[in-house]
Amino acid sequence: MLITVNGLVLHERPAGDKGRFIDVLTQELGVAEVFVRGAKKATGKSTCVTQLFSYASFCLEQRGDLYYFQSARPIRIFYGLRENLDHLSLASYFAELVRLAVPKGRQENMILRLILNTLHYLTEKKRDERLLKPLFELRFASELGLMPDVLMCRRCMDYLPEKLVFSVAEGCFWCEECYHGEEDTSVFPMSRSGLEMIRHIVLVETDRLFHFRAGGETLDVVSRFAESFICHHLSMRPRSLEFYHSIKRNGI
Ligand SMILES: [Zn+2]
Repeated sequence: MLITVNGLVLHERPAGDKGRFIDVLTQELGVAEVFVRGAKKATGKSTCVTQLFSYASFCLEQRGDLYYFQSARPIRIFYGLRENLDHLSLASYFAELVRLAVPKGRQENMILRLILNTLHYLTEKKRDERLLKPLFELRFASELGLMPDVLMCRRCMDYLPEKLVFSVAEGCFWCEECYHGEEDTSVFPMSRSGLEMIRHIVLVETDRLFHFRAGGETLDVVSRFAESFICHHLSMRPRSLEFYHSIKRNGI
């Protein structure tokens, strides 16, 4: 049976001399594993459309649970990512999160939109990566059903305290007056601007998701919180995340 799906290539790996496998995030099939025959001998056009971070309309042959690449029409290929190692490693981290956390066969329109939009802003250098990384991590967690409770202080119900501590493990916050330090050791002290940024990321409608600004201090604390939050709740720390940090540390 032949099917046509729009999808983003998240990963590629060789499969001997006969071809290679690509993992494609699609709206209809979730993450699908697709076999590309004779990739080494393929023409430039089909190699290009099946490479990492290519978004295309794929025609696939389905045999049971397996998908075989037939042809594809490119929609957008994120070439710009290859010009900047920071951006390429960050995009690879996003792709690994999706590959590891999204169940096979689940329909994934929102996560596909999220990663396409994030790659767009990263490629076009329209947003700081310090903003894009926590935005992707927290929104992705929310789309998976792991949204933190951002409503009010868990004890006194203050909606917008000046200062607060946000708990990674509990996924909720206490205002500074209500937090006595004994509940939790995975907490991040932050100001109300940090809370406002987290609220925006997890609650706002998709069209306005990328439309906000935050100061450097807020970006830093929300960034550390978001990374800790996603790794804790998915019980994993992807290798690509370590690679991203090693690049940032060494300033390659
Ligand atoms: Zn309180």
